Amino acid sequence: MLDAVVPLAATSTNARLYDALIIGAGFAGMYQLHSLRDRLGLSAHVLEAGDGVGGTWYWNRYPGARCDSESHSYCYHFSDELVQGWEWSERYPSQPEILRYLNYAADKLDLKRDITFGARVVAARYDEAENLWHVQTEQGGHYAARYLITAVGCLSSANLPKIDGIADFQGKWYHTGEWPHEGVDFTGKRVGVIGTGSTGIQAIPVISAAAKHLTVFQRTANYSIPARNAPLTDDFKKYVRENFAEIRDVMRSTVNGHPWRIADRSVLDVSDEERNEIFEKAWERGGLRLRAEFRDVLTNEEANRIVSDFLKKKISQIVKDPAKAAILSDIDHGFATKRPPIDTGYFETYNRDNVDVVSLRAEAIERITATGVKTSKGEYPLDIIVFATGFDAMTGPLFNLNISGRGDMALRDVWREGPRSYLGLQVVGFPNLFTITGPGSPSVLTNMPVAIEQHVDWITRCIADMRKSGQTRIEAKPDAVDDWMVQVQEVANRTLFTKTLHSWYLGANVPGKPRVFMPYIGGMARYRRICDEVADKGYEGFALTR
Ligand code: NAP
Repeated sequence: MLDAVVPLAATSTNARLYDALIIGAGFAGMYQLHSLRDRLGLSAHVLEAGDGVGGTWYWNRYPGARCDSESHSYCYHFSDELVQGWEWSERYPSQPEILRYLNYAADKLDLKRDITFGARVVAARYDEAENLWHVQTEQGGHYAARYLITAVGCLSSANLPKIDGIADFQGKWYHTGEWPHEGVDFTGKRVGVIGTGSTGIQAIPVISAAAKHLTVFQRTANYSIPARNAPLTDDFKKYVRENFAEIRDVMRSTVNGHPWRIADRSVLDVSDEERNEIFEKAWERGGLRLRAEFRDVLTNEEANRIVSDFLKKKISQIVKDPAKAAILSDIDHGFATKRPPIDTGYFETYNRDNVDVVSLRAEAIERITATGVKTSKGEYPLDIIVFATGFDAMTGPLFNLNISGRGDMALRDVWREGPRSYLGLQVVGFPNLFTITGPGSPSVLTNMPVAIEQHVDWITRCIADMRKSGQTRIEAKPDAVDDWMVQVQEVANRTLFTKTLHSWYLGANVPGKPRVFMPYIGGMARYRRICDEVADKGYEGFALTR
């Protein structure tokens, strides 16, 4: 093992040397640390910018923050002991409960002693002569390792739109992804929320209940399905405890890692009455499962139009003011071709007297002034602005690390035209770098812990196999990357996802970002098979050297 504080000849600086460095202490980094340290016996260390574990759940503390995956599926599945030792309280876990859960897991696995908190990585450089990665933190730390594993999440680089005048604003403004730990008091305030994605849709009902007045600035109208969150019953908790192995099998063998299977029927195969009954039942049950009632919601335009119409009609039925209802239901894309939000009282919120919605399609924001937001049609005086404007998804968190590979090639430059990887795991020119849930893998199209565990297990097996055979370097081959990128685009083109051009899946929410469909949409189960086959065939598509 490499573990020690030793001088590195090439740099003549003292670096802490490990077998593996992991960046990020969320679901992914924690499990990767456990796998490498406790299963393989390696010296592994995590660098984490926050002062605690949690990753996305450490930073996203905005009002109403809650996971859209059901709690019994949004947790580690690799350990029966962890599963049996924890009890979720609600159907969907709230941000504080997930943070408690991740602390519980970190303590059970005794992970914190191998995590440096408050260590923000600002550079990672591969040294070819040493076959080592050198990592620098903002705080002046210098670390080196044979393997570098990014566990920085896909949605962790806040996207703050460049709207003129933000510096002039005399009130307070916040981005939901970097929410103050002490919270924000909205009492008696005039609040503006910009953005109606999953985050805005969760935050808006909660903010409206506290604020004097809330103005929602909506650029693209969105669907949302009621979550129907509720405390979990004792019966359900018992069912989960007793059937966890089966639930886990379902999650691992489905397209998107949720604990239910997609029905094998077409929207077009059933009568209008039957279909309506199915949709109504799914609407009443709540949650993302509605999408799984038919197999062709995301592949057949007519099928998608029917579901979309059903959901648009619901908005008009809930929202009493016809002018507000018209703005909210004027949706220009098919259901679920952008990530579908689920909510608790979202559309009902617009029936409150203290809530207005402004369509930015009808009146674009011109600037932020000292006292509020100015659109092409008027001024909205505000005390607080909340930017629920999302993230520079998938590539943003990796670029923030300033990674450079062989010959000092910057990842940012290599991916100038969009991300190119083999299996979303490795990049040509960046040996021994693994990107957990990187672009080109199913990642954001799944229930994330399932995708994370699959990647961590694969990386762990790969490193174990390399050590057994005495190999010290692994790098994706250019041909394998070319082939994989073709596959990623081909499967995307078979769906309706690529028809909605303004989704963050395509990078469209960040001005200047290349429009490339980033995640692999061929399904988690199929992806798992492909990765396993690659490993079984001696890491086909990778160059392994001593
Ligand atoms: P998002 O889906 O990207 O939504 C951002 C919103 O801000 C959109 O309505 C967008 O409008 C708007 N926006 C962006 N830039 C703007 C600008 N310059 N002017 C006006 N409006 C602007 O971001 P998010 O809601 O934070 O969600 C991101 C992802 O995080 C989700 O899709 C989901 O995967 C994940 N998430 C998960 C959960 C959960 O499980 N609980 C909760 C929240 C988020 P356009 O649509 O026109 O771009």
